[in-house]
Amino acid sequence: MLTDVSSILKIQGAKLELDSEVGLSGAEFLGERYSFTKPLRLTGEIYNNGQSLTLAAHAAGRIETQCARCLKPIEADVDFDIHELLSRAEDGADEDGDIILFDGHEVDLDDIVTDNFLMNISGKYLCRDDCRGLCPVCGHDLNEGDCGCDSEYVDPRWQALKDILDRRDDGNGE
Ligand SMILES: [Zn+2]
Ligand SMILES: [Zn+2]
Repeated sequence: MLTDVSSILKIQGAKLELDSEVGLSGAEFLGERYSFTKPLRLTGEIYNNGQSLTLAAHAAGRIETQCARCLKPIEADVDFDIHELLSRAEDGADEDGDIILFDGHEVDLDDIVTDNFLMNISGKYLCRDDCRGLCPVCGHDLNEGDCGCDSEYVDPRWQALKDILDRRDDGNGE
């Protein structure tokens, strides 16, 4: 979603209220896939602090992902605060590297919200707190009962799969 900030760019202290829905397609992080089942509600403001723009907002919504232990599809509520500094690229005032630069007079909030969502993932999502996960040997869902395997043994095929996933994560860095 592009937000026009031209009305506050030149006026110190000027403020733009935010109350909108941000439609995000989804994100992948550390091998976990997150989809947004509906737009995130974004409320807050962008204001001119004299040197740059400050984005102070709150995002809330719902995601679809999978249980980190048993891989069952689950939905979870998400709720996080966003605090970022924004500056026009042509003003080039990014000495510390922690200011988000934008072109012209429009800020694309989608990427900012997605990045903040990924920074705010609170550990792993589970289908329930005491999820027993999958048997590392045969893949049986241990929530449905024991399978009788010796769980100390890790099947080399599962290890190979894990290696592939680890490698794929390495290639995802930006
Ligand atoms: Zn689970
Ligand atoms: Zn088993």
